[in-house]
Amino acid sequence: MKANLFKLAQQVVQEIRNYGFQAYIVGGAVRDSILGRTVDDIDIATSAYPDQIQKIFPRVIPTGIEHGTVLVRYQSTSFEVTTFRTETSYSDFRRPDTVKFVTDLREDLARRDFTMNAIAMDQSLQLIDPYHGQVDINNKIIRTVGRAQERFLEDPLRMMRAIRFQSQLGFELAEEVLHAIYDNRKWLDKIAVERIAVEWEKTLKGNYFSDAKRSLFRTGLVNHLPILSEDIIQQSLQRLNSSLPSLAAFIAYMNLTVSEIAIADWTNSWKLSNQLKKSSRLLVQLVQDYPKEPLKWLLYRLPEDLIEDFTILCTLFQKNPFTQEEIKMVQKNLVIKDRQDLAINGKDIISFFPNRSKGSWIQNLLLETEKAVVTELIKNDKNDIREWLQYDNQ
Ligand code: ATP
Ligand code: MG
Repeated sequence: MKANLFKLAQQVVQEIRNYGFQAYIVGGAVRDSILGRTVDDIDIATSAYPDQIQKIFPRVIPTGIEHGTVLVRYQSTSFEVTTFRTETSYSDFRRPDTVKFVTDLREDLARRDFTMNAIAMDQSLQLIDPYHGQVDINNKIIRTVGRAQERFLEDPLRMMRAIRFQSQLGFELAEEVLHAIYDNRKWLDKIAVERIAVEWEKTLKGNYFSDAKRSLFRTGLVNHLPILSEDIIQQSLQRLNSSLPSLAAFIAYMNLTVSEIAIADWTNSWKLSNQLKKSSRLLVQLVQDYPKEPLKWLLYRLPEDLIEDFTILCTLFQKNPFTQEEIKMVQKNLVIKDRQDLAINGKDIISFFPNRSKGSWIQNLLLETEKAVVTELIKNDKNDIREWLQYDNQ
């Protein structure tokens, strides 16, 4: 499927060309294919307008018409197709004030952030590289298209993007880029925190996180990130020398090392979802509970999507005897997978103790039962559970 992706993209490009328009593969896909990295999605730039693309392909989703972007569905694969454009001023630091469509590929490449992201590939895989992105890729260097000072002032998010690409690719930042980030760092305050969070998460996940972190401190950009600007947090961040699989794992790590800053402070300042707050809380709890609580009870509460985060956090806190596979094995052999599987429910508990009035004791006993069944202290059988509860709670 993945190997096919470029072939499909070439077909989409050719189809657009058949209608007399220009079309090229652009952006991260070109960069990553030069680097031999896996490519998951392909962007296409074209001289055609969105309504013209809508006429060429039967299935087109209008995802960002005002910016010239549509999503073309082609043989069950999505391609983001964007009309060539230049971006004029960014007076509110959010989005360009006006998007001007152009007919020249070079003008479109000129608006892109870094030379390595400003290479186009045509239908026969030839590269069009007016800003010498290939040279910078070979030298593993991140350089802006045009003057860094101007490009960062124009869109300060690019400073975070430079650092996240360093984390993902292990490239160095050009001296000019480092200086320009230092000079323009305060403008990051103008950028919506949600957009910064996207880049920060990618930075955390990068294989070269430590290099990126060094740049973050060296340029002072770290002082313009929510909470990370605080001294006490910076000390802890300095000690973090491995990448993390998610923002939830990052927040859990930070809360476990600097408990004064609550998880809700993190998620509020970074405008993160409730789901992320829940995941971070659970991770903190599980890491703290290990190895105090019985292993089965611990892993019973660990959802599949947090297994990697949990093992990495345990390693960071020097308490990891397990691989992810071992965890999955233990989970597979658990007697019940969740509370629904329990042979009793709250109503049953009430019926076991007909003389008691309702109260929080019901939930407490339910939890106690759940734990006893999971740890195989008792069988998951209604009669066994009743006897056990009545004996213990006479
Ligand atoms: P990834 O592999 O993470 O998707 P990418 O290079 O595709 O990396 P995107 O954020 O998907 O990055 O953006 C696609 C392309 O759009 C970039 O390669 C770049 O050419 C351009 N681009 C994105 N954001 C900006 C920006 N803020 N300023 C200028 N160009 C940008
Ligand atoms: Mg991309």
